[in-house]
Amino acid sequence: MRLTNDVHLVGGGNFAFNLSSGADCHIYALKTGDGLALIDAGVGLGMDMVIDNLREDGLDPADVRDVFVTHYHVDHAGAVARWRRLTGARVHTSHGAAKAVRDGDEVAVGLNQAKIGGYYPADYILEPCVVDAEFDGGVPIQLGRLQLTPVDAAGHCDGHAVFLVEGGERSYLFSGDCLFWGGTIILQNIPDCNIPEYAATMERLDRLSFDALLPGHLTISLRDGKRHVDTAVRAFRSLGLPRQAIQL
Ligand SMILES: [Zn+2]
Repeated sequence: MRLTNDVHLVGGGNFAFNLSSGADCHIYALKTGDGLALIDAGVGLGMDMVIDNLREDGLDPADVRDVFVTHYHVDHAGAVARWRRLTGARVHTSHGAAKAVRDGDEVAVGLNQAKIGGYYPADYILEPCVVDAEFDGGVPIQLGRLQLTPVDAAGHCDGHAVFLVEGGERSYLFSGDCLFWGGTIILQNIPDCNIPEYAATMERLDRLSFDALLPGHLTISLRDGKRHVDTAVRAFRSLGLPRQAIQL
């Protein structure tokens, strides 16, 4: 699904448009002018559908050079090993997420609890994956004609990052599970969900400028995306909490 000249949406599950496996997050493909970069990998249960979506959009899956994950929850990072094997793509994570991805640590990423919650099949296995590069918050990465700047965004879970992408027809914030349409967030009953860190993250996002908000699930804003940060930051500043994006 073409969103702009820079970004296609090539996967997404039950909390989105059901483009691929029901358990997938939004999987975005960036056209960098030097191959493709994926923002989030999906769960890995519907890879053939994601590959079909790429092809139907005129994109060659073999051109996927880089995969960036916002965070280690398996709807976002579960498929990194498969993408790396299939395309030779370089896998990029934050320092905080790298160890759990390398180890396939199902406890660290909350998979054991998410299985009990019924989000993934009981026999789903998180495959360990080589992490080719650990990015630093605030340090830009050049991808062809685009510049991707990771921003530290803990709160939803440890090691969460969001990605500011500039140099295309407009600027984008890929916000993972940190911020959603309407200024909503996802707090979960997991050990590494942290409200004060979430509030500090929102202040950090408030200092960014961007046009489009492209979250990990639900609706997308191609213009005026910053208004969703305004709503969330107002709630935190009033010592309250933004609304939950998904009523669990
Ligand atoms: Zn998610």
